[in-house]
Amino acid sequence: MVSFSLHGVGGAGGIAIGRAHKVSHVVNEVVHYTVSAPQIAAEIARYKTALKRVSEELETLRKQAENMQAPGELAAILEVHSLMLQDSSVAEQPCELIEQHACNAEWAVSLQMQALVEKFEVMEDPYLRERKADVLHVCEHLLKALVGEAREKLAIPSISSEKTILVAYDLSPADVLHFKSNAYAAFLTDMGGVNSHTAIVARSMGIPAIVALHNARRLIQEGDSLIVDGAAQVVIVNPDREVLAEYRLRQSALELDRQKLKRLRTAPCASLDGISISMLTNVELPQDAVEVIESGADGVGLFRSEFLFLNRPDWPSEEEQLESYISLLNGVKGKPVTIRTFDLGADKQKEGWSKHTRVAPNPALGLRAVRFSLAEPLVFLTQLRAILRASAYGPVQILIPMISHINELHQVMQLIERAKQQLTKREMPFADKVPLGGMIEVPAAAMLTHVFAKYLDFLSIGTNDLIQYTLAIDRTDEAVSYLYDPMHPAIVRLLTQTIRQSTKAGVPISVCGEMAGDINMTRLFLGMGLRSFSMQPAQILPVKQRILTSEVKEAQEWVNRLNRTDDPAKFAMYAERLNA
Ligand code: PEP
Ligand code: MG
Repeated sequence: MVSFSLHGVGGAGGIAIGRAHKVSHVVNEVVHYTVSAPQIAAEIARYKTALKRVSEELETLRKQAENMQAPGELAAILEVHSLMLQDSSVAEQPCELIEQHACNAEWAVSLQMQALVEKFEVMEDPYLRERKADVLHVCEHLLKALVGEAREKLAIPSISSEKTILVAYDLSPADVLHFKSNAYAAFLTDMGGVNSHTAIVARSMGIPAIVALHNARRLIQEGDSLIVDGAAQVVIVNPDREVLAEYRLRQSALELDRQKLKRLRTAPCASLDGISISMLTNVELPQDAVEVIESGADGVGLFRSEFLFLNRPDWPSEEEQLESYISLLNGVKGKPVTIRTFDLGADKQKEGWSKHTRVAPNPALGLRAVRFSLAEPLVFLTQLRAILRASAYGPVQILIPMISHINELHQVMQLIERAKQQLTKREMPFADKVPLGGMIEVPAAAMLTHVFAKYLDFLSIGTNDLIQYTLAIDRTDEAVSYLYDPMHPAIVRLLTQTIRQSTKAGVPISVCGEMAGDINMTRLFLGMGLRSFSMQPAQILPVKQRILTSEVKEAQEWVNRLNRTDDPAKFAMYAERLNA
């Protein structure tokens, strides 16, 4: 077997060794399980039922289109889809695959879909090439019919006993969330930026990930043996025995280091010159509390509550949200929890949000985060009530994402007041004081830190977005990820000013972007005056170790030099000395 390597951008570090499992965006929810020999006929029958159901649905749609006098094009597309369903490649071959691989029907459809898509992709005729979209549509219909029918009885997937490495063209943060409950060894995607939410969620799972690989899905075959070296940002496909042995050794060494770091779990976190630092975690789901406790962190600095809103067509109710928040509070055993109100929009699109169906020309600059919340006041109020009610069960803070204008803050404060009045009327308890914080994620807010500090109890810098908006680089776009530079002098100055202004105003400030979990940035932040970090639980101990071996006073001197120089060579030298 030919061995080769592919290079991408680091999504998350670590080493994984396993077998490739290719997925495409429409089959992300598809699970793979084996069916026993006596069940194969039943599985084929299940597929045929789904096929029949989709044919009937298409027929109904066709009639509706006729009655509505829809454009002829629509009828033609539906006709093509109906014909595809009758073609042996869709009607028969998945049945053969079920038999051949003893697999579930969904899996057979996804395998067949990939084979068909690959055939269409290489067609010369642009019209035929475009038909790939029809294949995807038809298979998506089939999968929905199958998954809908089988959801109740699906068992936990077991792709194989070997470690499985997902190879995808692209994954949305919601897709990755689905995978949180499955034990995958690593992720590889052709698309994606280093600080896209997809990469962040992968990182939160503590597994290696590499994004922006460009050709992984094309070059890697299902079942190929893979080594993923997240830190080196390289994938080795079908490695030979020596390379495999070497990586197994490295993997054990890394594991050993991880185990050794665990000794720091209960040690107080302070610099060499005795400055105490608060270590907080970022979480996406209440069940992440387990890792928070294992890391020895002081609490949760960022709960990305929007993940409760994804992968579902409806909005979570007040009671459901309350339950999640209480579950997180209980999970972290009474440590403080900062709940960020939902940051939907941009790369975290809410299904079934029909009010604003127009595809935004520039989603990252569009109706996102607090702007989205203010556009949906009833949904926002529901969340605010749930958070306030949770405050009766433990220490809770509210954090507002992507504030850019003081008016937004006033509107949020009014809504919080209204939520409180509603709860009082209902005689529902909430804490007397629920601190309110704002995220500094856009340059406008960073420049007005002193103003925001007047109204807020705390601030948190979202460097992922602050870098995106300051340097004008879409964090999800791999084409410009080489420009995504946390050490850009403008970023260093902006961060220094923000941290120092907030400190001067006496308002606690933290950093919860990915930079906070990067040990190469720890001294930079210490030197800027940061005393609170929030990061993925897996990063807590490495960063803590770094803090324990750093001197704040010295870091401060280097940071001052970094901020004073306009000479790129000197800037690079100071940055190096800071970490020496
Ligand atoms: C950030 O922007 O740095 C941040 C923490 O928020 P998110 O990554 O969820 O946008
Ligand atoms: Mg952000």
